[in-house]
Amino acid sequence: MRFEYLEPTTLQECTEMLGQYGPEARLLAGGTDLVVKLRAGTLRPRVVITLGFIKELRILKRNNDGSVEIGAMQTLREVERADRLGDGVDLIRRGAGSVSSIQVRNVATLGGNSCNASPAADTVPGLIVAGAQALLTGKEGKRILPLEQFFLGPGQTAMRSDEILTGFKIPAPPPHSGACYKKFAIRGEVDLAIVGVAASLVLGSDARYIKEARIVLGAVAPTPLRSRKAEEMLSGQYAKKDLFMEAARIAAEESRAISDQRASASYRKEMVRVWTRYALEEAFQAATAANRDMKNG
Ligand SMILES: Cc1cc2nc3c(=O)[nH]c(=O)nc-3n(C[C@H](O)[C@H](O)[C@H](O)COP(=O)(O)OP(=O)(O)OC[C@H]3O[C@@H](n4cnc5c(N)ncnc54)[C@H](O)[C@@H]3O)c2cc1C
Repeated sequence: MRFEYLEPTTLQECTEMLGQYGPEARLLAGGTDLVVKLRAGTLRPRVVITLGFIKELRILKRNNDGSVEIGAMQTLREVERADRLGDGVDLIRRGAGSVSSIQVRNVATLGGNSCNASPAADTVPGLIVAGAQALLTGKEGKRILPLEQFFLGPGQTAMRSDEILTGFKIPAPPPHSGACYKKFAIRGEVDLAIVGVAASLVLGSDARYIKEARIVLGAVAPTPLRSRKAEEMLSGQYAKKDLFMEAARIAAEESRAISDQRASASYRKEMVRVWTRYALEEAFQAATAANRDMKNG
């Protein structure tokens, strides 16, 4: 197929190009989703605009307040290996490291994983649990959107056709907290998730009282799904094994899984129950370890 190929070097140049071509243009990041669709002919843009030469999209930094900024064009491999960002983004590094193979992660970007808006995207549940904000730039300027509000359906986002996702801002995790991402796929990480679960717990200083819980499910609804009933049930309780089992049961009830070539809806629901429990148990262990470190430090 034929299309015009453009190489802007600044964000401003890029937004002007998007403003000019509108929905006839497609942005190219790592191309691991886009090129597949171009080859299959399911997308036929008039113009493809690469983001590969825009320096402003390549940021990876930790601010003094502990928050972290990650540019949309950071590859998943770079994110996965960014241990200098501190423990607070372990969850996001783990999500990035759960995508397919090293070969794919070397080119696929963190921004592309969100913008493709697959319900099974591995980095998204962790980003939402961590309270990430999507940083957007368009012809009318910049805006910030909680990532939770970014997804409208499979392949659909709240971005306007003139907007670029420039990156994410992730707040510092609260004290006494721990988080975890679990991916379940039939053929391991090279395969798309049947279920992805990110969970975080904020504990009281006694390391048992749950002040706040967050659970986000991937691949079991048209968009990443906050399991709000399970979160509410956990908050204000003292942690124990049965409690996590009950929360996992509620999360499974809340999921809106469908049957497809990877799994039936009922199997997916059952896997939500199993993997939510694992994710909560691991988040709890991480939070108690964080508590110990604070007391010793
Ligand atoms: C073999 C294979 C295995 C895979 N396995 C997994 C897996 O296990 N888990 C998983 O989550 N994903 C998987 N994927 C999907 C894919 O690798 C990810 O979704 C990837 O992160 C997309 O990033 P990209 O940079 O390649 O995006 P691209 O393909 O370049 O772009 C994807 C879409 O987002 C838009 N876009 C990209 N960046 C921006 C931006 N900054 N602003 C606005 N729009 C933008 C593009 O226009 C396009 O519509 C797999 C893909 C392949 C080919």
